[in-house]
Formats: sequence, structure tokens, C-alpha cells
Amino acid sequence: MSVNTTVFHQIKKELTASGVDLIAVSKTKPNKDIIDLYEIGQRDFGENYVQELVDKAASLPADIHWHFIGHLQSNKVKFIAPFVHLIHGVDSEKLLQEINKQALKNNRVIDVLLQVHIATEETKFGFDASSLMELIQSNRLIQYQNISVKGLMGMASFTEDMNKVKTEFASLSQLFQQVKTILPANSFQTLSMGMSSDYALAIQQGSTMVRIGSLLFGAREYAK
Ligand SMILES: *Cc1c(COP(=O)(O)O)cnc(C)c1O
Repeated sequence: MSVNTTVFHQIKKELTASGVDLIAVSKTKPNKDIIDLYEIGQRDFGENYVQELVDKAASLPADIHWHFIGHLQSNKVKFIAPFVHLIHGVDSEKLLQEINKQALKNNRVIDVLLQVHIATEETKFGFDASSLMELIQSNRLIQYQNISVKGLMGMASFTEDMNKVKTEFASLSQLFQQVKTILPANSFQTLSMGMSSDYALAIQQGSTMVRIGSLLFGAREYAK
């Protein structure tokens, strides 16, 4: 399998028309595939595994923006803190504390999205709506001077029921609008939702950033 450049140009055109950013999700894919997209203009790539991200970042062009989109363990923040562009899946205050600490050590401000649990499945990580609102309304975010909270991220249920997916996206979008009225609007403006199977629906519901893997790179084959 290799990169589908026709689909890339098509998706890019659609997204540009609606002002939505594209993260090309390259997890499990070889550097060669990333370079293929890089050469036709893509700069934002998403990875789920810390070690894989670190290895790829070390050997690929320095102007790539690396997005960490997986579940991040506190003890691994230090490996990506020097260079990561945006951490999408921040789902606890413990993780905020650690990101802030590592960002300070690296003398930088790290951009993050707070992950919200919108799916009905138990397996998806994230704040629930009420604990998110409690955090936003508290003063606690202010202490993280080396973190900039840019927006929210969520993943819909893994289901063919598009009505269910739509409802989940709509509720995240509503929460996003609500938080926007509280946090400084100039920095809080990213809503990361939508993947290969549901990105059109996500955009309809107000997404500003989609994370697309298999449509661009082909299906993933995990090692046996
Ligand atoms: C793998 C992954 C994606 C991309 O999934 P596709 O269905 O291949 O587009 C998007 N977001 C997250 C968090 C992922 O883990």
C-alpha cells in the first residue's frame, strides 16, 4: 500500500473550502509514505505511539509539525516535549502538570487540546463534560504557564450508526462553543474531530481539524 495522492488533493480541496485543517495520521506507516505527502505540501502529521513519533521526527524534515494524537502516559511526556507541535489527547490534570513541567524544562510553551469523552464506549479516554466545565471554570488552568490550551478533541463511537456519531459530534461542538465563551477566544479555537470514516459529518458539526489516516495511506497492517 502507498499514499493515495488523488484522494489527498480531493480531501485538501474540500477542507480548504471549509477552512478545516488536515492532520495526516501516519501511525504504523513508513517514512517513505510521509515523504510522499510532504513532497506535495502536507506538513502536519499525527502519531499515536511515543517511540514511533520520536524515531520519525529524528529522521524526517525539521519543518514537519508533529501532532501526538494517542493516549499519552505521563512518564513519556519528556520524550516528545522538545519538539511536539500539538498534543491532542490531554485527559487529566496529572498529565497537564507533567506537560507543563516538561515544557518549562525545554523553555517552551506546548499547545494542547483537552480530550472529551463523547463516545458511549468505555474504552475511549477523556474528560466528561461536567469535569471539563469544572476545570475550565476554575482558576487551575492559569497555573500552567507553559501550556496553551488551544481547543478540544474527541472521538465518536466506533459504529456504523451515523446518527449516533452525529449526535456525539454535535454534543462536543456545543461544549466547544460553551468553553469558547469562557476562555480567551483568540487562543481557544481548535475543535479536533473527525477521521476517515466520519470527517464529512464532523465538519458539518463544526470541526476545525480532522485527523485522517487510512483514506490517505491505505489500511493499516499491525504486526502480528
Ligand atoms: C488512528 C487515528 C486516527 C485516524 O484514523 P483513520 O480511520 O485511519 O482515519 C484519527 N484519530 C486518532 C486518535 C487515531 O488514533
